[in-house]
Amino acid sequence: MTIITRFAPSPTGPLHLGHAYSAIISHDMARKEGGKFYVRIEDLDQSRSKKRWENQIFDDLDWLGLSWDEPVVRQSERIGRYKNILTKFSKELGLFECVCSRRDIKNALSAPHESETLLGPDGIIYPGTCRGKTFSSHLKFKNALRMHVKLNENKLFSFCELGPRKNEISFSSEEFAKTVGDVVLWRKGYPAYHLACVVDDFEQKITHVVRGLDLFDATKIHTVLNSSLGFKKPFYYHHRLICDENGKRLAKRHDSKSIYKYRQEGFKPSDVRTLLGC
Ligand SMILES: [Zn+2]
Repeated sequence: MTIITRFAPSPTGPLHLGHAYSAIISHDMARKEGGKFYVRIEDLDQSRSKKRWENQIFDDLDWLGLSWDEPVVRQSERIGRYKNILTKFSKELGLFECVCSRRDIKNALSAPHESETLLGPDGIIYPGTCRGKTFSSHLKFKNALRMHVKLNENKLFSFCELGPRKNEISFSSEEFAKTVGDVVLWRKGYPAYHLACVVDDFEQKITHVVRGLDLFDATKIHTVLNSSLGFKKPFYYHHRLICDENGKRLAKRHDSKSIYKYRQEGFKPSDVRTLLGC
């Protein structure tokens, strides 16, 4: 098997140390085995994605000495593909239209047990208000779409984790319904991250998905999606998260930790690797 990994940033800000760590781990894993490494631009949110940041990402990766195979894939150019998948597999996904606002969902949950609002990897666990509605492609993707995992089948899902939490992770459809719920696959206007990510990883034949531990719980969603769509499951490697001096996970606002700043201050790519311990 040829190992294929990817680095999939959103062009909404500068790459920082955390991104560099992810890109290096992913790149090195493929190169060590004579495999392939791809770069994918996750620019679904067109209001926040900027060409300027995309160019900066390529420039920083290049500076870090990370080369990638194949032309870069941009999710914004694949919207039609995601729509096709939703239309084709609407039954398998248990797809339904959801017209609830955030407030509607909160209101449906707050009565009568206010304290029981549960948060899953896709946000508040959906109370099921619109579950009776069906999906029709004639509605031209005007409303949000959610998937519903049927409980009568009582399926067992699993994925193989190779990172620091190395294990075979398994969970039932019942557990998924309780702790994750009806996941949004289409937002008003564009596909949700989970859908695009799973479709792209499958179609790009990614064998090992390398990313931060912050996405560990979301992998349950990706596993259910892969199963419903009949896609082959990749292996997962969720790496540790890079934190600042206060132990907080680095975010886009951490300009001081941006690769660009390190470059300006005269750091070499090898210094960044030393700093990250990789
Ligand atoms: Zn709804």
